[in-house]
Amino acid sequence: MRILIVEDNPALSTLLAERLGVRGINADLAANLEDADHLLHAGQYDAILLDLGLPDGDGLIWLAGQPDSRPPVLVLTARGTLHERVKGLDTGADDYLVKPAEAEEIAARLRAIRRRPGTRESVQLECGGLSLNPVTREVQFNLNPFKLGGKETEMLEILIRNCGRVIPRERIEAGIYGADEAVTPNALEAIASRLRKRLSDAGADGMLHTVRGVGYYLGNGSD
Ligand code: CA
Repeated sequence: MRILIVEDNPALSTLLAERLGVRGINADLAANLEDADHLLHAGQYDAILLDLGLPDGDGLIWLAGQPDSRPPVLVLTARGTLHERVKGLDTGADDYLVKPAEAEEIAARLRAIRRRPGTRESVQLECGGLSLNPVTREVQFNLNPFKLGGKETEMLEILIRNCGRVIPRERIEAGIYGADEAVTPNALEAIASRLRKRLSDAGADGMLHTVRGVGYYLGNGSD
């Protein structure tokens, strides 16, 4: 799972990222709402962990302005009165936690809001016989399960969500790698090559298409 942490206290956000990281939740960090907007625009996130008191505005007002297609949001804030918690949930937060909170509970709540019915994450993603469960990360071709590495699964998820559409390589890289992860020039090609091999082994031959100099797409038919 990949999340965005919006938190202006760098010591706290770094600690959270570390402690969630060991629980399989990778995080990008935004120290303010402007950075959050940029990262949300550039990348794909499974959930947002949102502080409310931020240097360039109020997290709740920002949340109210987000489109319905936004990832689920777990508010993590010092505002802990009953009135504040109710207001947070009524404004659209999918869950609400008061600081200080244990990473173990934050991780559990992130998993919970991600699989909650009604969020798009509960839907099985499909494209031409390939399917991916965004919660369990199970992949299947014609209902036969097969195994993929973590980054290959991330790449497949981006392409399967955009079945038949060419996705620029920069967007795929942004979805696979954290904002502060160094991406070597041929890293994406290596991931694509492993993904293509696994798809081929699973019987989904020729489904991953390369558009030279542009990006990749998923679909039946030849290149
Ligand atoms: Ca704050």
